[in-house]
Amino acid sequence: MDATTLAAAPAAIEIVALTKRYAQGRPAVDGINLRIASGSYCCLLGPSGCGKSTTLRMIAGHESVTSGDVLLDNRNITDLPAAARGTAMMFQSFALFPHLTALDNVAFSLKMKGVAKAERQARARALLDRVAMGHLAERKPAELSGGQQQRVALARALITEPRVLLLDEPLSALDPFLRIQMRAELRRWQQELGLTFIHVTHSQEEAMALADTMVVMNHGLIEQVGSPHEVYNRPASEFVARFMGGHNVIDTAAGKVGVRTDHLQIARTAEVLPPASSHMRAVVTDVEYQGTYVLLGLQKAGAALSSHATAEYSVMVSEEAFAASPYQVADEVLLHWTPDRAHALGPATTPATASLEPA
Ligand code: ADP
Repeated sequence: MDATTLAAAPAAIEIVALTKRYAQGRPAVDGINLRIASGSYCCLLGPSGCGKSTTLRMIAGHESVTSGDVLLDNRNITDLPAAARGTAMMFQSFALFPHLTALDNVAFSLKMKGVAKAERQARARALLDRVAMGHLAERKPAELSGGQQQRVALARALITEPRVLLLDEPLSALDPFLRIQMRAELRRWQQELGLTFIHVTHSQEEAMALADTMVVMNHGLIEQVGSPHEVYNRPASEFVARFMGGHNVIDTAAGKVGVRTDHLQIARTAEVLPPASSHMRAVVTDVEYQGTYVLLGLQKAGAALSSHATAEYSVMVSEEAFAASPYQVADEVLLHWTPDRAHALGPATTPATASLEPA
């Protein structure tokens, strides 16, 4: 979805001052406001424990709201039961019933609602046809590939004709190869169905690959909302820059700035610096060959360099440039960047290091 379409689209979901407090102390979700455009793919992204799933569960009606509102198509659904909201949920590893055929998996919720067998089977079959699975309707999950299982799970979620599909880390239990295939499929189905998808993930790469809109959360708050391009190129805060990766956070006289790893340059002497560029002295701490480029880790010059110094900054040097002028650990260099490559970073909501725990 392009930016203009996205901005013009009505909101499918609107979240107003939404708060969840499980216990005393800091709320798990702390008064967030968010508008999710109809027909868009939205990813809620952030480190483990930042409140993504709680937010999703409050939209789904699987978690009560402490305060605030959830609107779907301008209808306040905050106090409605899950089944009456117009949302459906897709879970990790698809959570299909292993003993039921694809058809019966898809028809299951209609059976629970008391829909007659002929009708529920006809509706399930139509949906399986829609996701190109009609010919495998009689198979059980174990007889289907990962991709086919995902399509059955999608059909099962769609049988209640939801306006919004909620996906809670649907890909995180898959092996890396399958995960990349499945996310491409998810994106295709979202576009083909024209539905609003809200997908929770802790993977920056997954969110960037899928989302029209990324919502970066930290400690129950929203740090930034934007397209993957906006969030990656203009991280709003130090937290976002560090969490997204691929950025250097540099203290300058004017405050903290972010410079992308591929936009930071390295030189041996000041004579070669472009006019109006900023620079700092640094020492090489790591040299890693990565194929098309060499990744250099560096520390600010002047700090005591120990054998287990961790890199504060990183620079990508093309394989060719590196071959022409190789750098070694302990080399003293100049890191430089032009003003158009640096942008100011706002303060993190809380100290970024505290929330970079592995998911
Ligand atoms: P995320 O999905 O981003 O990993 P969660 O929304 O699951 O984060 O959790 C946010 C915070 O709320 C965490 O500190 C977590 O420990 C806490 N939390 C989540 N669910 C419960 C619960 N049912 N009871 C108490 N605390 C919870």
